[in-house]
Amino acid sequence: MINRLSSQEAKELLKEIAARQPAIILDVAAMLSARQPVEDQPGPSADQPSWCVCRHCPMMDRDQDKICCGMAPQYCDSQRPEMGLVITDPLTLHIQQTYRNDVFAHQAVDVEDTNRSFRHAAYRQCVLWIHGRLQRDDRRTVPACCVKVVRAKFPSLTGNYTGFIPGRGVGW
Ligand SMILES: [Zn+2]
Ligand SMILES: [Zn+2]
Repeated sequence: MINRLSSQEAKELLKEIAARQPAIILDVAAMLSARQPVEDQPGPSADQPSWCVCRHCPMMDRDQDKICCGMAPQYCDSQRPEMGLVITDPLTLHIQQTYRNDVFAHQAVDVEDTNRSFRHAAYRQCVLWIHGRLQRDDRRTVPACCVKVVRAKFPSLTGNYTGFIPGRGVGW
């Protein structure tokens, strides 16, 4: 059946599948990324951490935060449109916080608090997007490239980023 599809039909079918199962696009990106010949990828630059292959990760202080999405640069998770649509969109995050009765959002009194609560919600959203629903003791973290986008959107005015807190699952 698949062999009989024209390339246009195959494209439309893939879009249809992606509309029904949005997270599948991450799997498609991972497959395309894995096929990317290494020689087509630019060499590391001086400001790129040695552990990053997507070329969008910043330097991170703590070893546990040095995690790359693992994609080729053009398929980097942090560059996907979903980042703006569901990870860093304030209304989406507000709805998630309301649904979860989020104490960080409730107790926020200034921009610093609000941005911290949005970062917290955005990381939670990111883990759900990339890894699916977390199990109780599942401590998967957010790739540094995505952390960079979230911090740029919801910065701490004092540069106070607490990082991943394993004991509380996803917490920043
Ligand atoms: Zn990276
Ligand atoms: Zn990346």
